[in-house]
Amino acid sequence: MSRMVFVNGEYVPEEAARVSVFDRGFLFADGVYEVVSVLGGKLVDFAGHMARLRRSLGALDMEMPMAEAEFLATHRDLVARNALDEGMVYTQVTRGAADRDFLFPPEGTPLSVVSFTQAAALVDKPAARRGIRIITQPDIRWGRRDIKTVQLLAASMCKMAAKKAGKDDAWMVEDGFVTEGTSNNAYVVAGGSIITRDLSHSILHGITRAAVLRLAREARMTLEERAFTVEEAKAADEAFVTSASSFVTPVIEIDGLPVGSGAPGPVAARLREIYIADARASAV
Ligand code: PLP
Repeated sequence: MSRMVFVNGEYVPEEAARVSVFDRGFLFADGVYEVVSVLGGKLVDFAGHMARLRRSLGALDMEMPMAEAEFLATHRDLVARNALDEGMVYTQVTRGAADRDFLFPPEGTPLSVVSFTQAAALVDKPAARRGIRIITQPDIRWGRRDIKTVQLLAASMCKMAAKKAGKDDAWMVEDGFVTEGTSNNAYVVAGGSIITRDLSHSILHGITRAAVLRLAREARMTLEERAFTVEEAKAADEAFVTSASSFVTPVIEIDGLPVGSGAPGPVAARLREIYIADARASAV
């Protein structure tokens, strides 16, 4: 049975799913997206992802194309139609199809909405057990990384550089400070403190980041929200990343140097465990 995807109000088999060649997502990367993880057939932190979708759209002068309840129904429909137990629901909203012009299309041009599922093992993952090896790369992205746009070429190029180097991922660096991972937020553990970059236009405001920081506070762990340097990361006791699809994943090597003992550390392991328990309990 082929995967059913949602395209502008209809559920269609993926082979039959179509968007216009004039779609501004295609021509201008004029669109935003969200990725909601699915555990046990339920949606993790759905409200948080919808809040960020609304914020990303608002920052680009677009409105929510459907009510949040409709997005919830669509997500649940896709999970059910594709019998998804574990994985992700990807949703993309673009400024719609219009003749190619740098100016935004006339008011009333319908936004395009596409959603699809991706099956994936999220809890039981080799990367979580053994940790990932990363390289650092210059952050060449634009100045509004807090908007979750579909312009992902810079991140894609960093990920390819990591692959070519035989590693798993990359952290992006600006003025000597780590901004974030290609598709995750970055953390180090040093001197008993969990350190992660503070929120600004420089990084995506991760929904998993917010949950992990809340859980760390509840567990009375020490947190510092501030930028950290590559040198600090290399000298840290532990490092890890968070995202909707990787939860909390330890980083065991940076630019060929082991982080701490070179094995996944206890802080990342504990945070991963409490994050997954909380995500399962609160999924809708
Ligand atoms: N930073 C970037 C650049 C990302 O692309 C992502 C996720 O795709 C994240 C951080 C993590 O965000 P979230 O926890 O909401 O998945």
